[in-house]
Amino acid sequence: MDELVSLCKRRGFIFQSNEIYGGLQGSYDYGPLGVELKNNLKASWWSCMVYERDDIEGLDSSILTHPNVLKFSGHEDTFTDPLIDCKSCKSRWTADEIIDNKCPKCGSKSLTEPRPFNLMFKTSLGPIEDLENYAYLRPETAQNIFTNFKNILDTTSHELPFGIAQIGKAFRNEITPRNFIFRVREFEQMELEFFVNPGDDEEWHKKWVDMRLSWWEKQGLNNNLKTLEVPKDELSHYSKATTDIMYKFPHGEEELEGIANRTDFDLGSHTKNQAELNIDSEVLENNASSAKLAIKSSVSNKWIVPYVIEPSAGVDRGVLAILTEAYTNEQIDNKTSRIVLKLSKHLAPIKVAIIPLKKNNSDIVEKSKEIKMSLQSSNFGRVILENTGNIGKSYRKHDEIGTPICITIDFDTLEKNTVTLRDRDTMKQEKVNVDDLELRLRDIFK
Ligand code: ATP
Repeated sequence: MDELVSLCKRRGFIFQSNEIYGGLQGSYDYGPLGVELKNNLKASWWSCMVYERDDIEGLDSSILTHPNVLKFSGHEDTFTDPLIDCKSCKSRWTADEIIDNKCPKCGSKSLTEPRPFNLMFKTSLGPIEDLENYAYLRPETAQNIFTNFKNILDTTSHELPFGIAQIGKAFRNEITPRNFIFRVREFEQMELEFFVNPGDDEEWHKKWVDMRLSWWEKQGLNNNLKTLEVPKDELSHYSKATTDIMYKFPHGEEELEGIANRTDFDLGSHTKNQAELNIDSEVLENNASSAKLAIKSSVSNKWIVPYVIEPSAGVDRGVLAILTEAYTNEQIDNKTSRIVLKLSKHLAPIKVAIIPLKKNNSDIVEKSKEIKMSLQSSNFGRVILENTGNIGKSYRKHDEIGTPICITIDFDTLEKNTVTLRDRDTMKQEKVNVDDLELRLRDIFK
């Protein structure tokens, strides 16, 4: 982990947030390379969820959330961690961090009883800070998918099964943020709520676990993934069954994504008139909204509250897993080694680096710029001109940041119209005619 954190900082992937003021714990900033990697990961998820299917629609909803949404979703009451204080050294712990009834810091057994601590951030609305006018920063992106259920149904023409996908920030006041970007207070989620007929839920749950595993494998996580059935007594308040996709992070095996069967809990608890609607649902009481978050079955003509399968993945945990898997310290020969980020090509922040052989040769540099602009407009992703005048150093840098292809522009380019392509993983070089370059790269990046 230390090596990874250091590489991330040194090369501009991830920085501690507000570092010049001592840092804001549990918050991180994504630098020039981090933002590209993160965007590429999100784009791959969006493409797989929304563009490659016709039964899923996208959404980008507000972060500020009406308190009633999180009241009726159950988060106000249940989204808590039990907290324990050490009376001797005054340190504060979550209950699961206390082993053998002793303070992990000073070993004292003088501890308070666990007290519930709500993980949601509250903020006041309007110019006057008071207890009435407040909103929550959403603790998951899911709730505004449920509250938009009717809007989306009314504006599209879906029948069950269909889904709504969203990528966005979520906030949790984690008591002990830790392990770099693994557990933070501000993070991004990629969430799908997939609505199915009650009764089809268990089958869809299994399908989504398989689909999500295979997607993570395509992001390059081939070796260190596994699934875990969450024990019944550890399920979230809304879940009938949850399968976690676990990844072997540098600090241990932990959750990367959770795939929950949320049943009709959320749509049901946001819907007031279920009894009047003659809807079969277990969640009938104490509802506040007057919405009818239900769908009329084209088969039975009855209103039903769909069941929901929710694959919910963390972007930041995804980035950490991908960096962990890609980080390779490779021995080249007895004396030399190199660090390579073996990122899948579609995730690499920079796809191609154009390196002029001579920093100050204006013909070579001009030709390099021309090739850069022409490749940039071919939509491979980011292509950069790396004009350091030191090819060996540039190769090392681009190995470390995972650039799949380096292209050297030299005198042969001016005289014979050829360039040298170097592959990140094999370090093999090939000569390619400039006229064939785009086609060759299309083949490499396909
Ligand atoms: P954990 O048990 O690790 O706290 P969780 O079960 O509370 O996670 P979910 O509520 O299922 O997490 O959220 C879905 C996903 O959101 C998680 O799989 C994870 O990738 C991401 N996530 C949740 N909390 C955090 C956090 N504090 N920091 C970064 N990512 C998070």
